[in-house]
Amino acid sequence: MIVQTTLSSGVADAPQVPQLIGGKWGASMGGEWTAVENPGRKQTLAFVPASDERDVDAAVTAAAAAFRTWGRLPARDRGRMLLAIGDKIGDHQEELALLIASETGNALRTQARGEAASGADIFRFYGEVASQQKGETLPFGDGLLSYTVREPIGVVGGIVPWNAPVTLSSLKIAMALMTGNTLVLKAADLAPLAVLKLAEWASEILPPGVLNVLTGSGSRAGAALARHPRVSKLTFTGSTGVGKGIIAAAADRIAPVTLELGGKSPVIVFPDSNDAETVQHVINAMRFTRQGQSCTAGSRLYLHESIFDDFVAKLANQLQQLHVGDPLDEASDIGAIVNEHQHASVLSYIAGAIDAGGELVAGGVSNPTDRDGYYIAPTIIKGARADWAVTREEVFGPVLVVIPWSDEDEVLTWANDSDYGLAGYVFTKDISTALRMVNGLEAGWLQVNRGGGQLPGMSYGGNKQSGLGREYSLDGALESFTNVKNVTIAI
Ligand code: NAD
Repeated sequence: MIVQTTLSSGVADAPQVPQLIGGKWGASMGGEWTAVENPGRKQTLAFVPASDERDVDAAVTAAAAAFRTWGRLPARDRGRMLLAIGDKIGDHQEELALLIASETGNALRTQARGEAASGADIFRFYGEVASQQKGETLPFGDGLLSYTVREPIGVVGGIVPWNAPVTLSSLKIAMALMTGNTLVLKAADLAPLAVLKLAEWASEILPPGVLNVLTGSGSRAGAALARHPRVSKLTFTGSTGVGKGIIAAAADRIAPVTLELGGKSPVIVFPDSNDAETVQHVINAMRFTRQGQSCTAGSRLYLHESIFDDFVAKLANQLQQLHVGDPLDEASDIGAIVNEHQHASVLSYIAGAIDAGGELVAGGVSNPTDRDGYYIAPTIIKGARADWAVTREEVFGPVLVVIPWSDEDEVLTWANDSDYGLAGYVFTKDISTALRMVNGLEAGWLQVNRGGGQLPGMSYGGNKQSGLGREYSLDGALESFTNVKNVTIAI
């Protein structure tokens, strides 16, 4: 076993977990290691290689060598391997879930198990649709045969964040490999262990070099991957700030880029949806059981003024039922914030809003548990103005701003008044109203009467500064990970 799933309870017995380059597991060339922490217990779980330019170059070289045969395989043969990886994850889901909960702080019962299951689901989805990498024929008459083929691009560089490491890595791996590319994936510094476990299982099925997984910092390993001249395509999920650097690096050599970035998504509730079911959906949409650490968190809640007080009271009451605690404890609904820096940042958004005159309706409490970890109670703030940081910026924590509205056009204007355009949620029983609202919302992924997450097959991605390109769907994978070649033959 390369990646241990029963991890340490402190630095003394924390293992060194290697990375995967060209089918081989090893340390970084510089020999340095970096610690991975359990944020729910403030304990070091393991050490992973601190990669630099040399490791990136070795991984890209291995991926380029593997591309020569992988890209030429029949698509269904690649699909069969993805299905096998999906089955392997499915057989060992609990091991993966334990790793996810330990390193991200996401609660095992409410989050990590679901995320592990999503990994299996994503590999199975792309394994099943692999044969759909089809081209077109064009009707130019008897004298010409003109057709297109979709070809892989080459070596893909993938970079993922810590907040949903297995879901997002599964997406990058499955989409890139299905379409015949090979991949160098840079795992997140804060949560690399479950991704390495996934890579261990995948490496038992895939030819060497098809999938390479590196660990290390963004500024060193991530930046080196983004600017490597033999990386032909970049797929990045992370913050908008870093995403701007990724697209700049790609511009230098005109490499195609997919960017899945941040969000500050609106939730609009109409008077006919002042019910318990909608309250639960709003809690789900805000991803409170992931401590709000989600790009699609519906963190601006616009409630019709006629239901405002009643809905807020129900929401606060429902949130109080959720138990904040150790991510590995079955009793916990909500786990820990990912690290000390992020914990302090979320608390400073709350303090800033209160200082400016905002009213705390629920939460606002740092560490409501008996554990020594980075916990914050789910928080609701009312009275925040549209230009405050807590209303405009991605807090990436369990902080929901509630705002009353009375005019439909006005609330749409407020909802769209954002640099972001990732997700949007509308709650009403009236289908005409729902359609008017989703037609008007400037975002890539819209949900009506549902607070749940993405499902394989959905087209998912952001507008404005939330990103470029689409993932999760077959079309998204084909558009993002293939080049179209047109061939015309005179007959
Ligand atoms: P981040 O941008 O700090 O880091 C993301 C990844 O980029 C990490 O692997 C990191 O090591 C790497 N990185 C950092 N600096 C780099 C650099 N200079 N060059 C290359 N790589 C670099 O983001 P994070 O804090 O890990 O994740 C949270 C952010 O991710 C939030 O903004 C969230 O909205 C976003 N996110 C978006 C989606 C989506 O699908 N749109 C999904 C999840 C998270």
